Amino acid sequence: MAELVQPAEIAREVLRRLAMQRKQPTPENYLKLYHEIAGTTAAEIFPEKALKALAAALPRATAEQTRFARNLDAAVAEKSWDGLKASLLALTTAAGAEPPQWSALIHELVQQLERSHVGLTPAKKREVLDHVLKSSNAPDLLFSRLQSLLRSWSQGLTAETEASMVGEGAVAVTAPEAGAKADAPATARASSAETPLAGELRELLAQVLENGLGQLLAESPAMVEETASLAAAVRAARSSDDIARLGGQLKKFSYRLNFIAEDQTELRTALLHVLHLLIENIGELAIDDQYLRGQIAVLLDLTRQPLNLRRLDDVERRLKDVIYKQGALKKHLHDAQDRLKAMLASFVDRLVEFSDTTSGYHDKIELCVQKISQASDISELSEVLDVVMQETRAIQLNAQRSRDELREMRRRVEETEKEVDRLQTELAETSEMIRIDPLTGALNRKGMDDALEREAARAVRHEAMLCVGLLDIDNFKKLNDTYGHQVGDEALKHLATVIRETLRPQDTLARYGGEEFLILLPDTTLDAAVQTLTRLQRELTRKYFLHENQKMLITFSAGVAELAREEAARDAVKRADAAMYLAKRAGKNRVVAA
Ligand code: GH3
Ligand code: MG
Ligand code: MG
Repeated sequence: MAELVQPAEIAREVLRRLAMQRKQPTPENYLKLYHEIAGTTAAEIFPEKALKALAAALPRATAEQTRFARNLDAAVAEKSWDGLKASLLALTTAAGAEPPQWSALIHELVQQLERSHVGLTPAKKREVLDHVLKSSNAPDLLFSRLQSLLRSWSQGLTAETEASMVGEGAVAVTAPEAGAKADAPATARASSAETPLAGELRELLAQVLENGLGQLLAESPAMVEETASLAAAVRAARSSDDIARLGGQLKKFSYRLNFIAEDQTELRTALLHVLHLLIENIGELAIDDQYLRGQIAVLLDLTRQPLNLRRLDDVERRLKDVIYKQGALKKHLHDAQDRLKAMLASFVDRLVEFSDTTSGYHDKIELCVQKISQASDISELSEVLDVVMQETRAIQLNAQRSRDELREMRRRVEETEKEVDRLQTELAETSEMIRIDPLTGALNRKGMDDALEREAARAVRHEAMLCVGLLDIDNFKKLNDTYGHQVGDEALKHLATVIRETLRPQDTLARYGGEEFLILLPDTTLDAAVQTLTRLQRELTRKYFLHENQKMLITFSAGVAELAREEAARDAVKRADAAMYLAKRAGKNRVVAA
């Protein structure tokens, strides 16, 4: 039998065989036979809803749990079985990892509490311990904080031991970092004859405390005060005693700093997660509001990755642009909708008026009919007939006027409806406008222009380098012609994914044209940019594009240019384009620097 291709032919054959084999026409039997005849396999349906519910029910009390739940959320959102597998594997690996050794930790803690440490009195140690116990709710967090506390105590102990071994005796020299231990005797000696370097270092440390940390700790006023007093103590420290005291203080300060940093990281991650959920939820509620789609897609994309100031800035600019345009469009839309409503109201009024007139007419005619039946002579009849004629003419005129008015109203309603449609489409298109190119997820042409302008301005401001790379897929037309446009589209998506995986977060990918992409590489030398594109070519030989299980190699030719001083960004792109052309001429699949 000839191979069946058309679904309708296959369906007919399935029914015929079911009847021949006297099988029940259940969905299972039908599907099984269908795939048997078509030579296909049943496509698995991704149970998104069920998995989403499962992920939503997961606990998120600890950092570990939150991480797992978030990975699962992301995998479900991308409908990725691979993602699910990876997060489950990570979970089992974590579960199989050594459980925290609490008894060993407590044993060590008791020992360290009893020992004497440089720059730390037992009371100070208890104070720090108390702080750790109070500030760490989750067990794994508590465990890791206690561990780092013990680590720093034991380092202090080593320093003391070493100091006593080199004969410094009671002169306590604290080395905040293990790496400083070897310098301990030298530091002690330097206290009597200080070198200029030590003075400079002291000043630098004070400045780091004042300028660097002060700003980071803006939300903890007590810590800000402490940075100021520590900076003053650093500047004033001269004797070994001063330095020992300062070492103890700095160490305590660094524990607390550590906790604050951890808390802030957790807080940021949790906030981002909440924001992501919120946006996702709004997206689901506003499923019919086409004009919100673009914004929601951009925000979801933003919250899926760690926060990055540059991306935030980019999203903010584009959202502002779109919100402004949509505001104006929405006003027009509301006006048009109001006009429609007003027209509908006057249409109803007209109907009421018309039915009033016709019911008045019916009453009058009824009266005339009565008069006619009671009339005794012809002169009475003629009067009644006059009335009938008059009334009928009046209602005719009225009907004609109403018909004309209604026709006009219908025309206006249709016109306004068309305008509402047009405005709604425009609104949705505006939303799409910020949306990155829908096929590849790279920036579209408008996004690219903005990014180019911003990166070039940034490069000038910071006197930094900026490279642009323009790449064009080799022989793409042939791929399209051989396998079809849809496969071509898939290849474009694959390329964009590999590029994104290979680039750094601060790099930007934009779709320049059909099968051409522009890459912006800030703070990158020309050599490094060429290397990046070459690495990308290598990545493509590892991460094949799969079409019907057939590995297909995508290659591209690229040109790279570094933005010269006072050069317009567009001109650098033109140079990259010219270099790309040279790469094509030289035999394709290569990278040429402009
Ligand atoms: P070369 O190696 O010289 O670059 O040859 P090429 O075939 O890649 O280049 P050419 O410019 O001749 O053809 C580009 C093709 O890209 C033609 C066009 O049909 C295809 N193309 C452009 N945009 C899309 C798209 O969005 N999807 C698909 N599938 N194809 C596209
Ligand atoms: Mg091309
Ligand atoms: Mg091409």
